[in-house]
Amino acid sequence: MEEAKKKKVMFIINPISGVYKKKNIPEKVARYIDYVKYDYTIRFTQYAGHATLIAQQAVHEGYEVCVAVGGDGSINEVAQSLVGTDTALGIIPYGSGNGFATHLKIPPRDAKGALDVLNTGKTVKLDLIKSNLRYIVSNAGFGIDSSVARRFHHHGIRGLASYGWAVVKELLFYFQPFHAKVEIDDVTIEREFFLFTAFNANQYGYDYAVFPFTSMKDGVMDVIVMTRFPVWKLPYIVACLIGKRSDLIKEAEAYRAKKIKIHGHKKMVYQFDGDSIIHHDDITLEAVPQCINVIVPENLNAY
Ligand SMILES: [Mg+2]
Repeated sequence: MEEAKKKKVMFIINPISGVYKKKNIPEKVARYIDYVKYDYTIRFTQYAGHATLIAQQAVHEGYEVCVAVGGDGSINEVAQSLVGTDTALGIIPYGSGNGFATHLKIPPRDAKGALDVLNTGKTVKLDLIKSNLRYIVSNAGFGIDSSVARRFHHHGIRGLASYGWAVVKELLFYFQPFHAKVEIDDVTIEREFFLFTAFNANQYGYDYAVFPFTSMKDGVMDVIVMTRFPVWKLPYIVACLIGKRSDLIKEAEAYRAKKIKIHGHKKMVYQFDGDSIIHHDDITLEAVPQCINVIVPENLNAY
């Protein structure tokens, strides 16, 4: 009987991103990876965007799996090169916000648990959001979250509590609602936006979700739109958001969309998978159905 061919897997580690130490990841990989199933290589990134290049080379060299070690930002970089290829995305979640991995029930900051998923999991095809700039794995938009992402670009924010505090500070001292015109499929809205976010994955990161559930295989984005509101309403709105009852907020609307166009102007700041992006022209977002192979837990059914 012929032995099953081993799969080549590339681990891509950004040694300096995020706030959690990834120094011992190579040791954990050596200890817990299934040597019957995999031959592995580890590469460390040296600059922003390097992970995209490493993943592209891995695809050319016939690697069957590329593993992003990090948060949504690291997954974003690796995913750019895997869309439409046979190479599957694996994830060892080590970011501060792990929206994509949490949606897929891959345990955060638990290298052994995540390696178990690689060893025993199944490969499924998932949707991504395609913009005119890059692919988005988790969520993208503008408003309070993009303002916070921009201000804290160079700081690590640990967990929901400090992220929450950063949002409150932004609200009280700096935040100006964005005036914008947005087309959501056939609906056009123009107003002062507090928040506009299109979701592929359910989670915002920091273990927080706006919607009770969104699907990464239904070919549509779930969109939350919030108009500016008076400051005295803030406690009520925060309570609704924490309770995942955005339907109780008069200033919030939910949409499901295949295509979005955001009319750009000089003052716009966006966030793509938690990274701040400044872009003055129009931004288009489009749900691309089942365009990337991802390794998920064997028993994951709703995703
Ligand atoms: Mg969806």
